[in-house]
Amino acid sequence: MLRNAHECDRCGETIRPGDEYAAIDGIAPEGAVRALLCVSCAGSLSRFLDGE
Ligand SMILES: [Zn+2]
Repeated sequence: MLRNAHECDRCGETIRPGDEYAAIDGIAPEGAVRALLCVSCAGSLSRFLDGE
């Protein structure tokens, strides 16, 4: 659960505490990355990861 409003790291939509969202943890060449995505971007990401 978010404690503060946050912007989706992909589209910039505001994610408010209590909204559904996705937290993505990954490793990039520069180090660990963490992204918060709104529901629609999380859906796009899962389709991307599925190879669509
Ligand atoms: Zn988004």
